Amino acid sequence: MSLMRLAYASEATFEAKPVEKGVEPHVARILMTSRKNNAKDQLVGGLYYGNDRFFQYLEGEEDAVRRTYDRILKDDRHRNIVTLIEEPLKSRTFSNWSMKYVPLSRDVRAFLDDQGLESFDPAAFTSEQCEKMIELVRNSSQEQTLATRDDPKSVGDAPQVLSSGMKTGLIVAGVVLVGALVIGGTML
Ligand code: FAD
Repeated sequence: MSLMRLAYASEATFEAKPVEKGVEPHVARILMTSRKNNAKDQLVGGLYYGNDRFFQYLEGEEDAVRRTYDRILKDDRHRNIVTLIEEPLKSRTFSNWSMKYVPLSRDVRAFLDDQGLESFDPAAFTSEQCEKMIELVRNSSQEQTLATRDDPKSVGDAPQVLSSGMKTGLIVAGVVLVGALVIGGTML
């Protein structure tokens, strides 16, 4: 059996929802399905989501990679899918990640700065940039858990769970509550 590797870029079709347990909910569902299926097919790789765009890298047995990619191509949660790499592979380069999710926004920001790129647009990556992105995904030391934190400030405009107005409101409410408790305490 022969091995192959594949990387593509695409644009999300869904409107990003507030991050839950470190991951945007649509992406969390994609990750759950991917991990279940890829583990069965002994596929490994990584997924990066930022700036409403996906970058995914997959490697494994050619049949399994192609079958999976066929399903991915038909998925209406993304569009404008651009195949960046599709070639034979001598030996596996990822450890046992069925689908590593990479919320490494700071690293990606540093990578974009280094490359003189203004935003995360993997469809426009050169092959060298593509290899660097794969390297970044491979070397990131993230727990294989959905509870990793993306940094919305660094790449893209992922929505915050609490707006700054709500945060200010909560701080004011906290101060008022403490004040009331102190006053209440002195009156007893
Ligand atoms: P199903 O049992 O058909 O579905 C699994 C779950 O996904 C269900 O909860 C279902 O509601 C939900 N779902 C499926 N399609 C949609 C849809 N169009 N809109 C909303 N929810 C939907 N699959 C892999 O196996 N491996 C991968 O590495 C992988 N990477 C992906 C990367 C991206 C960016 C995207 C968008 C999808 C990816 N998928 C991947 C998912 C893939 O496109 C198929 O949806 C999936 O493989 C179908 O598998 P299944 O038949 O086991 O899942």
